[in-house]
Amino acid sequence: MDHEASMNAALAATSVENCYQCGKCTAGCPAADEMDFMPNQVLRLVQAGDADTVMRSRAIWLCVSCLTCTTRCPQSVDCAGVMDVLRQMAAGQETVPPDMQRIKVFHRAFLDSVRRHGRINEVELIMQFKTLGFLKDRNMRLLMKDALLAPKLIQRGKFHLQGESVRDRAVVRRIFDRCMPRADRARRATADKDSASGGVV
Ligand code: SF4
Ligand code: SF4
Repeated sequence: MDHEASMNAALAATSVENCYQCGKCTAGCPAADEMDFMPNQVLRLVQAGDADTVMRSRAIWLCVSCLTCTTRCPQSVDCAGVMDVLRQMAAGQETVPPDMQRIKVFHRAFLDSVRRHGRINEVELIMQFKTLGFLKDRNMRLLMKDALLAPKLIQRGKFHLQGESVRDRAVVRRIFDRCMPRADRARRATADKDSASGGVV
């Protein structure tokens, strides 16, 4: 399936065609100022079937999934859901712009932590994000950035050294197994083995 066909299939559950470009989504979007395409423009590109442009955009990675656009839309278009689908597709097809790679790494670290524990283990999340981020761009600043904030956050109870897990982690794993593509599952299984033997995932 080419990019356009898979985009159309993934978005079939939403009502993208109902968007009439009123711009209410963009007007409420907290990240719009930083985006290369405004949320309503992303919708327009999707309507036009321009998969290549939209999947290489920075906008879909700068979206913070706040759902403001979805709740404001007079046409009940799930704009935030569209952003989410596009992110998943861009990640799977390696069309993430170089300066957005770190955001992709953060998404991965976040989801891995939830998959393992059923909730976020903050230390593990940061370790994985910083290590994989550094391996991607060899930027020492990423490793050290925010380090001085940690003691203050711990003092205020905003950062927890001790991670917790939900009781029934098997249920969480089953949810992920159902949602993850087969190739991704195989990659994760390998990463879990590396992790268990002391490597970094
Ligand atoms: S608010 Fe809804 S109808 Fe208006 S531009 Fe955004 S997605 Fe389209
Ligand atoms: S969900 Fe994304 S696109 Fe929608 S308003 Fe929030 S940041 Fe903007």
